[in-house]
Amino acid sequence: MRIERTLTIIKPDAMAAGHAGDIIKVFEANQFKIVFARLVNLSKKEAEGFYAVHRGKGFFESLTSFMSSGSALVMVLEGENVIARLREVMGATNPANAAPGTIRKLYAASIERNAVHGSDAPETAAFEIGYFFPGIALV
Ligand code: GDP
Repeated sequence: MRIERTLTIIKPDAMAAGHAGDIIKVFEANQFKIVFARLVNLSKKEAEGFYAVHRGKGFFESLTSFMSSGSALVMVLEGENVIARLREVMGATNPANAAPGTIRKLYAASIERNAVHGSDAPETAAFEIGYFFPGIALV
């Protein structure tokens, strides 16, 4: 097992609904250590840059409007195998398909307003951590 870092975002829907504490509790229960954090209110351009890989898809406009619609809590989590483990704990993108007990099953409202983001691979984590926390170590 190796120690990794990953990027998570508590998205504007979960922040507005008051689920930030519940979601952080899940991180703590799984021994994901919060090593950096920023409360942000993304501009549309910042949201578009973060989700550049989805540019051109039908939901890009709506997704980036949603992501820039209010406060979001961006964090770097550290732990053993944390990239894959966070993805498991988050659940499927669409909460309708998310396993019982996962963050998205518990707190997500829809496939778009799905409470939480987590990097899906080491290369993605490197880009995403650098996007919000330039210059920090990736471990
Ligand atoms: P993730 O890695 O599970 O977050 O999923 P993706 O990388 O595929 O998509 C990024 C984000 O775009 C998701 O978390 C959702 O907020 C949003 N999204 C993904 N698929 C759809 C979709 O079909 N419709 C809408 N409206 N939003 C979507």
